[in-house]
Amino acid sequence: MSRPFIVAIDGPAGAGKSTTSRRLAARLGFAMVDTGAIYRTVALAARRRGVLYEDDAALGPLLAGLIIRFAPPPPGDPAAGQRVLLGEEDVSAAIRTPEMSLGASAVSARPVVRAALLDLQRRLAIAAGNRGAVLEGRDIGTVVFPDADAKFFLTASPEVRARRRHAELAARGDGTPFEQVLADQLKRDRDDSSREVAPLRPAPDAVVFDSSSLSLDEVVEALAAEVRARVARGGLAG
Ligand code: C5P
Repeated sequence: MSRPFIVAIDGPAGAGKSTTSRRLAARLGFAMVDTGAIYRTVALAARRRGVLYEDDAALGPLLAGLIIRFAPPPPGDPAAGQRVLLGEEDVSAAIRTPEMSLGASAVSARPVVRAALLDLQRRLAIAAGNRGAVLEGRDIGTVVFPDADAKFFLTASPEVRARRRHAELAARGDGTPFEQVLADQLKRDRDDSSREVAPLRPAPDAVVFDSSSLSLDEVVEALAAEVRARVARGGLAG
């Protein structure tokens, strides 16, 4: 079956995956699928309905009734990135809180949740991408698209990642102290890497980038060059 060119970008929290993926997709003319946003939206829906993050029996029916979609950025603010819709509601801001980061990590460890979201992630990539799609997450290159055409694992030191996340939250008016951001992130890293289903780890054939001492532009440039080389080798229009 033919499918778009798939770029998988995995890595721990705060490694710069979202910004890098957004800019890479824009540069290549590819669609983008932020899979973390999907897990965050599930956590938000669970929280609102009073469903515990570990309650598999209640999570199953909850997931069956959720409609999660992406929409273009608000007119006049393309840099804001895609909006995330739960039903008709724009939940883009509501899912980006520290509480929903931990909630997403908790629900994402449940096999019932991962199984239910697998198909959605694949469909979004295939439907949205005419030329190609960039997917970012934790298990894109290992589970969602193990046959992705280009796989990257983006990382950076825990301090650098927490500093970036702290600055991002502060810019949104969220005053969570740095120590708390770092502690939450270390917990998420530990939980995401040690869970039984689809743990966070580089695919054997992923190109690993440590962005601790690279600028965003340098990372995007390096990834774009690698993707273009692969597109050219694959004989597609680059
Ligand atoms: O990338 P982001 O920080 O938005 O992801 C939130 C959480 O969702 C992660 O900490 C991880 O537990 C979970 N996640 C996942 N698999 C993905 C994407 C996100 O388990 N593909």
